[in-house]
Amino acid sequence: MNSAAAFEIVFILFLFGNFVLKYYLDRRQVQSILRNRGAVPLAFAGKISLEAHQKAADYSVERIKFGQLTRITDLGFVLIATFGGLIQWIYGEVYGWFGADILAQIVIILGYALLSSLIDLPFSWYSTFRIEAKYGFNTTTPARFVKDLLLSGILSLILGIPILSAVLWIWNAAGAFWWFWAWLAYIFFILAVQWIYPTFIAPLFNKFTPLPEGELKSRLEGLLSRIGFASKGLSVMDASKRSAKGNAYMTGFGKNKRIVLFDTLLSKMTPEETEAVLAHELGHYKLHHIYKMMAFSFIFSLLFFWILSVLAECSWFYEGLGVNLSHGASHGVALILFSVAVPVFLFPLAPLTSLFSRKHEFEADAFAVRYSSGSALISALVKLFSDNAATLTPDPLYSAFYSSHPDAAIRIATIQKEMSK
Ligand SMILES: [Zn+2]
Repeated sequence: MNSAAAFEIVFILFLFGNFVLKYYLDRRQVQSILRNRGAVPLAFAGKISLEAHQKAADYSVERIKFGQLTRITDLGFVLIATFGGLIQWIYGEVYGWFGADILAQIVIILGYALLSSLIDLPFSWYSTFRIEAKYGFNTTTPARFVKDLLLSGILSLILGIPILSAVLWIWNAAGAFWWFWAWLAYIFFILAVQWIYPTFIAPLFNKFTPLPEGELKSRLEGLLSRIGFASKGLSVMDASKRSAKGNAYMTGFGKNKRIVLFDTLLSKMTPEETEAVLAHELGHYKLHHIYKMMAFSFIFSLLFFWILSVLAECSWFYEGLGVNLSHGASHGVALILFSVAVPVFLFPLAPLTSLFSRKHEFEADAFAVRYSSGSALISALVKLFSDNAATLTPDPLYSAFYSSHPDAAIRIATIQKEMSK
């Protein structure tokens, strides 16, 4: 057996292995939810109504079933793109029209990206206007949905084409260590986007207003000075125009940090609860989680650039994924195949990243207990679980793969333990 055939078999084994594993995890999750649908778990008795608990169960199950449909479509698309000859066809057509220079590589990548987003589009539409709407979460209109779609499409072109051109140019011009220089350009790009995000990108989608004077503002400013957190202020975002779900986040870095509170959060929480939620978010900064995760992803992306540089030179990599470079080398095709293959080989490692993330959540909760109120954090979380219809009874194995946050009951028990310290 030659290397291409061997790689093809390994890829297919992983592809279908993941598919079966994901189906098995879904089944466990649905069973765990349905088994516990009849009664509110003991830890939440009196805090969450049976009605809210059952709504969360139905919502979670419906989303999982829908996710399976999406997954079958995605699997079909990967098979058509690779062994079905779609990437081969794009490569051949683009070569005929544009030749083989950098412009041609960009057209190949954009063509593929456009097709794959067109496949996702009906699913995103159905999820927003059927599922989210059915459970009372969706507040966006079809017009806004289309506007968002066009805006984010244009934005991806404005941001994506320059970085793509830079990487492809370096690939051609920088010799054997191109992957290192391309990685540097990529890091610079990521940091620049994060830097301009709060000022130039986020306002394209939402309105941000300063948090009005009053009890909440003085409470939150008290928290900021207690923790010693320098920021460019607290803003309220009109998240309610798209979804009823509440949240808070921090954006930017260095001195350009901003704290953003969703209006949907403020309308549901007491000032004490908002303070506790903010203390948790600030914990992620103060405990360097944000920078650690960033460093982690930069190291991984360096590794990926290096692997890409090796694979791009191997004919078995292309042939094993159904592409024959009959018109000559194509960095665009290499990038597409790499982006198809990497998630397939990485999925079995998902529990590792989830584990990291859950560890950070526990630490941020402990931080919030120290600088704010543990009982307010608990009541805020209970409200969030209930209002966002998050299931309270997930399957542990499912959570190990998919949950960036600890399961509700464990999380609250840990906060209570932290409070008694
Ligand atoms: Zn967190």
